[in-house]
Amino acid sequence: MNVIVCVKQIPDPALPGALDPATNTLKRDGKLILDESDSYGVEMALQLVDAAGGGEVSLVSMAPNGEVSGMRTALAMGAARGVLVSDPALQGSDALTTAKVLAAAVRRLGGADLVIAATESSDGYTGTVPEQMAELLGLPSVTFAKKVAVEGTSVKVQRQTEEGYDEVTCTLPALLSVTAGVVEPRYPSFKGIMAAKSKPIDEVKAADLGISPVGWAGAGQQIASVTQAEARAAGEIIEDDGEGFTKIVAYLENLKVI
Ligand SMILES: Cc1cc2nc3c(=O)[nH]c(=O)nc-3n(C[C@H](O)[C@H](O)[C@H](O)COP(=O)(O)OP(=O)(O)OC[C@H]3O[C@@H](n4cnc5c(N)ncnc54)[C@H](O)[C@@H]3O)c2cc1C
Repeated sequence: MNVIVCVKQIPDPALPGALDPATNTLKRDGKLILDESDSYGVEMALQLVDAAGGGEVSLVSMAPNGEVSGMRTALAMGAARGVLVSDPALQGSDALTTAKVLAAAVRRLGGADLVIAATESSDGYTGTVPEQMAELLGLPSVTFAKKVAVEGTSVKVQRQTEEGYDEVTCTLPALLSVTAGVVEPRYPSFKGIMAAKSKPIDEVKAADLGISPVGWAGAGQQIASVTQAEARAAGEIIEDDGEGFTKIVAYLENLKVI
């Protein structure tokens, strides 16, 4: 069983981010790391390949400046190889162009039984790339997967909903977007980190994938403005005079959370 995982490489969320004021996009010129959201997809893929008793996990990523640090983390976890699309012409790519690029990278790898992405990335997320990829690849798409099992030529998915979960069965090949918590991602071992250094990453440009137009020229979306998130208001302090709990219950009832 072969699985391809989309891995987005993002600026370290522990560091203060910065916007390019000219384009309202996140500056990504420093070191990028594996988006934690995608570590769940990598782990899920490794477990499915193990359970199938054979096959391999490959990666696709689009990132600036030939960045591979995040991909190396996924390779250290156990993925076998990857395709990186890195090209200055891709700067300004919107979600649909990103999906076209990643779908073409999937095709370059020869396709797979399953393609896995996260439900949404942690930086400038739209939560639309996986579904766009599925459409472009002509694959069925199952979203918000919280539990995944492959049985023969189909995949059984528990799909998170507001009330609980749906049980969905889908024929392979398919594309899944997984939620955080679908599995517990492993820490790369020292042996894995050493082995990852020599695993192959095929670095290509947009033209190698036949993608054009790209970047701002190909963008059907615009970032009209960016607004500072509202600062958190100070909470209400309830002094406990022995009856403090009644005030807390009344407060929660008022919010309709109990
Ligand atoms: C007009 C416009 C211009 C933009 N210009 C830039 C720019 O110049 N530079 C820039 O960095 N961003 C730019 N962005 C943001 C960029 O569109 C998104 O970061 C990118 O399209 C991915 O979409 P997302 O993060 O919303 O993905 P989501 O749909 O939230 O991601 C879901 C999942 O898809 C997969 N995925 C998404 N993106 C990638 C990726 N690149 N590689 C591998 N897997 C991926 C991951 O598994 C991810 O968790 C621009 C956006 C717009 C609208």
